[in-house]
Amino acid sequence: MRYLSTLDSEQKTLSIRLIIALIMFFIALSLNFNDAVLFLSFFIPYLLVGYDVLFYAFQNILHGQWLDERFLMSIASIGAFALKDYAEAFAVMFFYQLGELFQSIAIGKSRKSIEELLSLAPETATRLINGAEEIIKPEDIHVGDTIIVKPGERVPIDGIVIKGSTSLNTSDITGESAPKDVAKGDIVYSGSINLSGSILLKAQSEYENSTIAKIMNLIENSAGKKSKSEKYITRFARYYTPFVVVSAILLSTIPPLVLNEAFLKWFERALVFLVASCPCALLISIPLSFVKGLGTASKHGILMKGASELEKLSEIDTFIFDKTGTLTEGSFTVSDVHSDNVDKDSILEISAIAESQSTHPIAASLKEAYSKEPDISRLGGIAEHAGKGIQATVDNNEYFIGNTALMELVNADYKECSFPDTIVHMSKGNDYMGHIVISDRIKYKASSTINKLKEKKIKRIIMLSGDRKPVVDATSKAIGIDEYYAELLPTDKVEITERIMQDGNKVAFVGDGINDAPVLTRADVGIAMGTLGSDIAIEAADIVLMDDNLLKLPLALDITRKTMSIVKQNTAFSLVFKALVLLLGAFGQVEMWLAVFADVGVMILAVLNSLRTGNIKTPIQ
Ligand code: ADP
Ligand code: MG
Repeated sequence: MRYLSTLDSEQKTLSIRLIIALIMFFIALSLNFNDAVLFLSFFIPYLLVGYDVLFYAFQNILHGQWLDERFLMSIASIGAFALKDYAEAFAVMFFYQLGELFQSIAIGKSRKSIEELLSLAPETATRLINGAEEIIKPEDIHVGDTIIVKPGERVPIDGIVIKGSTSLNTSDITGESAPKDVAKGDIVYSGSINLSGSILLKAQSEYENSTIAKIMNLIENSAGKKSKSEKYITRFARYYTPFVVVSAILLSTIPPLVLNEAFLKWFERALVFLVASCPCALLISIPLSFVKGLGTASKHGILMKGASELEKLSEIDTFIFDKTGTLTEGSFTVSDVHSDNVDKDSILEISAIAESQSTHPIAASLKEAYSKEPDISRLGGIAEHAGKGIQATVDNNEYFIGNTALMELVNADYKECSFPDTIVHMSKGNDYMGHIVISDRIKYKASSTINKLKEKKIKRIIMLSGDRKPVVDATSKAIGIDEYYAELLPTDKVEITERIMQDGNKVAFVGDGINDAPVLTRADVGIAMGTLGSDIAIEAADIVLMDDNLLKLPLALDITRKTMSIVKQNTAFSLVFKALVLLLGAFGQVEMWLAVFADVGVMILAVLNSLRTGNIKTPIQ
């Protein structure tokens, strides 16, 4: 029952159909009915498991696409009924549907996570005009509007609290599960959920520029570009089914004509041939290998969203890494403050106040560097410029804190720093104040991870970063990555990744999720490092590493490659064996029961082989 509660309604219905049909099947087997009743006693459970398969097969024929595995299942099982081999007819359909159920459970997870993501959008907002409440669409909110957010509602727009206090669930936006208390003067982000009191907000952005709208747009657009992955068996059936059907037709027509033998004899052989052709071993063992592979991965803290993601990772030949927080710890320490005219303490103080609401790794370190508790009541509005830095009002003055691109944006006359570290520049309006020198640490498993990936025949490894060139250069040399691109905006990262994919490479992108959800969705395989990343990144990714251990990447490669090689072994083994049985069947050398027996034998061997997917030994310490 606990198993049933994790399924969606379609999967539940199919499970229940399979269980009831199986019970009816065993009753039919154990009772000795006479002919017509015997037929019905198998035909009813058969219809119960297979009516939709029959229906779709029929529908596909009408649409001219009749050569798929549903067609094969239908014709093989109907053929078995014609030969009065009722149990076999039922088994064919039952095993096929069981395989479908396995697959759908494995694949369903990825679909569900995208749907959940799209439900983050608030549908309405309540605006206060001259003391009267008005329900509007979030799209109709203007900057400066007063918006009421009641308990249980989703915050429709980014804004500042002007009245009331409450606690918010921001986990959909930040990944932080602890509720966040807000009061007058605090900033709230659209997409968070109001947990307790009513608050009044002053809108700080139009809806299309709000946090939630940006996130949704990026993910929706990039997700739409991803080609739909085809199911493995469907692809296989594209070649197998036409081959089997054409052979069966030839078998029932050519020999009677050429050898001048009875048509019925060869027609019966053709049906045995069709029944024997049912690739039961594949139908069971392929989904099982995938489920086993996915299970092994998750046991090691590697969450893959489905079978097609697993298959894609096994084919990857290029890895693209984000730098900050992915290859480096993302915990910077302030090593120096350079300024000509402002004292160091007030630079650190203002940056700590300005960064108090940001989730960027740099923000965390700036808060840390200021030894006292920053007085956030001095903070007015803030705006983050992704890949550049932050803009914040402190004591009614506008400050800009970030990289040189941000300084150029506001025309501040900044000074370059000769230190090979990350530099956080700061200006008041366009008045340059100085910069903070911070340095990050490379994760100690980074270079061994890169070595392992190279050993595993990954032909290209690339690092992308929004950081300055000297830092990125030094990091890449220390880790052993030969190719890097620096000073990038999040959109540049998407562009470079797309270009590399267009060159025919199969690309995995690994990121911590801060600013890189769009690339995660765009890459062939997006891999998010769990603990630092936001929920959004985890939703956007195909594969999530639950902790920061980079060595899980080569391990994930091993698991997916082993799974795929077992899938291929099983396919080859079953096909060779099938070919043998089919050949003998065609010449009348195989009775129906032998064909079934052989099928079960191959299936058991293939399933045992699938179970080997779990035996993987790779050190990840
Ligand atoms: P990466 O690509 O290395 O992960 P990001 O794209 O997150 O880096 O950021 C790129 C650069 O933008 C950072 O190196 C930093 O200079 C600047 N930046 C981004 N966010 C902030 C912030 N909150 N405060 C200061 N600087 C920031
Ligand atoms: Mg980053």
